[in-house]
Amino acid sequence: MRKRNRPDLNKYSKISFISLLILLSLVVIVITVAVVLRNPNMYNDYETFSLGTYVHLKISTNSNPDIIAKEIFSELDRITEKFDPYKEGSILYNLNHSDDWYEVDDETFALIELALRYAKVTDGAFDPTIGRLVELWGFSSYSEKLAEDSVHVIPSEEAIKKALDNSGYEKVELDYQKKAIKTNGVWFDLGGIAKGYALERAYQIAKAADPECTGFIEAGGDIRIFGPKFGKDFWIIGIRNPRGTDSIDYIYLKGGSVATSGDYERYFIVDGERYHHIIHPRTGKPANGAISATAIADDAISADAYSTAAFVLGVKDWLFVRTVFPKNNTEVFLVSPDQKIFKTDGFSYYEKIY
Ligand code: ADP
Ligand code: MG
Repeated sequence: MRKRNRPDLNKYSKISFISLLILLSLVVIVITVAVVLRNPNMYNDYETFSLGTYVHLKISTNSNPDIIAKEIFSELDRITEKFDPYKEGSILYNLNHSDDWYEVDDETFALIELALRYAKVTDGAFDPTIGRLVELWGFSSYSEKLAEDSVHVIPSEEAIKKALDNSGYEKVELDYQKKAIKTNGVWFDLGGIAKGYALERAYQIAKAADPECTGFIEAGGDIRIFGPKFGKDFWIIGIRNPRGTDSIDYIYLKGGSVATSGDYERYFIVDGERYHHIIHPRTGKPANGAISATAIADDAISADAYSTAAFVLGVKDWLFVRTVFPKNNTEVFLVSPDQKIFKTDGFSYYEKIY
């Protein structure tokens, strides 16, 4: 009996050894596959409050997503602080309160120079020199939270005229050698471009850390895409109904950027009339030719500037938007005050999955 049992025991231990080996190899294979496939399928989500709005970062990366998120969020905070023109001591505050040539750092000069270029291309619909009007209308706070609490008074025609006289991008002089700016009385407000700039910086930080990263960053309705979903699919983006909470259209993007300017983000109502934060640089009053304007562009700065400009131009100047914006690689979706939809010819390209 004993003799017969011995070879059996041997056999069993051999079998269990082999199965252990198989099991171990299986574990190794599963772990390897998981590691290889992990990145395209795993998204990390981060949220913060910056740029006066809620920010959502969704990223998949081979690098450490926590570190990237931290770096991006501190960059957004830096930009929020730096380019707040109404905060005493900030670079824009100092520039706005100087009455001579004022030297600025490279970043500020580049951003202002760029903002002035958008002003030219949009025939002044986008105008970064309307700071006095923004302040006059009580929208000088960057934060949606603070804007809600402030007291709202409709300015007098006289006050509007005075602020208008001290606004206008054409008044500004630039010295490219000295990186100096002469405002000639206007107040810079980069609110129509700062969010886009910040999102573009976020994109640069993410790509510098990991060129293969995918995902997106969203701040108060503006989105900069890092790369396709799971490395291959479209991101589906809803365009918000400006008079509801649902979506009135969907677009599909694998890259680039989309921004929406609406009269529903920062506004107050007096005697049934809505007063919001996007000023028509010709009238000095909140623009009333649209209730929302969405722009799709290659980068977040363009999307931000052109969405603000399209909002200002509105239905009345739709022909200008339709002809000029696509030539600058920007497609527009506009909702008129009577809630009709206008789209540039190339917009439909983003409404389908190819
Ligand atoms: P949001 O910041 O709500 O997304 P926008 O991108 O359209 O909206 O920017 C609006 C901000 O831009 C305003 O709060 C103000 O700081 C600034 N702004 C207002 N009117 C204009 C204008 N005509 N051109 C450029 N900037 C503007
Ligand atoms: Mg904008």
